[in-house]
Amino acid sequence: MNIKEYLKNSQPIVYQILKNSFTEKKTSHAYIINGNKGTPLTEIAILIAQSLVCQNKDEDNLACENCLICKKIQNQTYADFKMLNGEDLKTDVILSLQEDFNKSAMENENVQIYIINLIEKAPIPSLNKLLKFIEEPTSNIVAIFTSNSVDSILPTIISRCQVISLKQFMINDLVNALKENNIPLEDAYLISKISNNIENNLQLAQSDNYQLVKNVLIESLNYLEVKDNYFIVYMQTKGLNSLNNNNLLDLYLDMLESCILEAIIAKEDNDYQPKFLKEHILEIKENYKHLEKMITDITNAKVALLSNANKNLVFDKLLINLIDR
Ligand SMILES: [Zn+2]
Repeated sequence: MNIKEYLKNSQPIVYQILKNSFTEKKTSHAYIINGNKGTPLTEIAILIAQSLVCQNKDEDNLACENCLICKKIQNQTYADFKMLNGEDLKTDVILSLQEDFNKSAMENENVQIYIINLIEKAPIPSLNKLLKFIEEPTSNIVAIFTSNSVDSILPTIISRCQVISLKQFMINDLVNALKENNIPLEDAYLISKISNNIENNLQLAQSDNYQLVKNVLIESLNYLEVKDNYFIVYMQTKGLNSLNNNNLLDLYLDMLESCILEAIIAKEDNDYQPKFLKEHILEIKENYKHLEKMITDITNAKVALLSNANKNLVFDKLLINLIDR
């Protein structure tokens, strides 16, 4: 994805904010880029980082993305640039970041930049340490945080940052965008439930990965909807072999979660017709009592996979729990 094209087309207000701040040289010391899962938050954070140091900026004063400096930021080899994940943010990680950035800048541009992805996942003690770091902004350190839910960030952090929120698309906008590109309506609904990014959704809908994961999902639902324990054998012998990387596992869990959420809506409103995989979802609605607990089970599995737990064990536990609900 070309991030500048994405911003111009899908997030014109955000583009304008960035263009103005770099043109008027009114950049901030700390940013929060906030948007739904599936929006290119990290890419935007990287563009901001590049735009702070690129010496070959475009007509809108944003980074060229092609010069040596921009490439070094992209590849994380620029000496005054660090990118971290909120969930890995132990206090010693913050301390070493502070130590690195207390030395003077190593590159000629004399700006030190760090990105923390999904800041809301960081442990509170680390955030308190970080807070002191943001509180003493020496003129050349810039923090860029990304977030899927700005509401769950400590207010003391928000108040020190410029918050840039991406526009959230309504489900109908997302579905229509896919429909216009001849994606079957059922796929359009399923994909629009798992991601809020029009361009990514189209790429996903047309990808082999999507069909592969959807096939595993449909097989899974065949077992799940009748509480067939063979579900576990199927996943261990076939399903997980197909889902052979973390992106596919994530996509599978997102799609499974969307099915359960759709069943919850159908349970609350008896007239509701599920928008995708209808027969499977109505079966699940009939045969399961504790649909909300199934959502928790899936969330727990996602968290376990994030911390690199053994995927076979994670799925054993998940499937046993699901069938039991
Ligand atoms: Zn550049």
